[in-house]
Amino acid sequence: MFRIDVLTIFPEMFSALEASMVGRARQAGLLDVRVSDIRAYSAAKHKNTDDYPFGGGAGMLMTAQPIADAIKALAPAPYKGLRVLMSPRGQLLTQQLVQKLSQAESLLIVCGRYEGVDERVSQRYIDLELSIGDYVLTGGELPAMVLIDAVARLREGVLGQGQSALEESFTDDHLLEYPQYTRPRVFEGLEVPEVLLGGNHAQIDLWRRRQRLLVTAQRRPDLLPQARLTDEERAWLREQGF
Ligand code: SAH
Repeated sequence: MFRIDVLTIFPEMFSALEASMVGRARQAGLLDVRVSDIRAYSAAKHKNTDDYPFGGGAGMLMTAQPIADAIKALAPAPYKGLRVLMSPRGQLLTQQLVQKLSQAESLLIVCGRYEGVDERVSQRYIDLELSIGDYVLTGGELPAMVLIDAVARLREGVLGQGQSALEESFTDDHLLEYPQYTRPRVFEGLEVPEVLLGGNHAQIDLWRRRQRLLVTAQRRPDLLPQARLTDEERAWLREQGF
């Protein structure tokens, strides 16, 4: 069972993790997500979790004490897992990083709010700061759920039978996925590519591989330098004008 602790001042937001695959994985005992309210650990009289920043400036900051005490209670040293703070200043989350994190012993995720978290929390209690992209949200809850979803689906047994996390965008070969089609064969006049209907698997594999090359070259040329392409594939892409 993979345990993930979440620290937040908005525990109710995590009801989203009761639905779908992640919900099923939790019910099946594959995933143990425990959401804790930071407020419960506040030593302040009114259970405050924020205060004004030293040096001035707009907005409030989350104070160190409630978060530190929550981490000490939920992940006492020596903690074998990884303590993560969601932060726009963090390392950018990629599928490679997701793969690494899915192998962790366990995770503890801290969700910031307001203008962020007192720096000393990171200094003392956090192993890794993670960003889900170069934009700013109002809190770390959605980023935490993004991380949990991405990590959970790589754990054994979480994806349903017949679903594979092996051959898809951003995995080892850094290529985007090929286009896919299901029934009907013709939809609003658009036909499914002929090759997919024929049952010639060598041809289908070649078509899919080339579609991956094309889609990646068109949409995310920045991924191509890391992609493992054969000389023939590189030549073929050049023929297509890339
Ligand atoms: N003042 C901060 C932004 C704070 S946003 C700054 O300029 O960097 C409030 C909280 O939302 C953060 O503490 C973090 O936990 C979360 N958050 C916002 N955007 C995020 C992102 N792109 N990735 C991860 N966490 C994010």
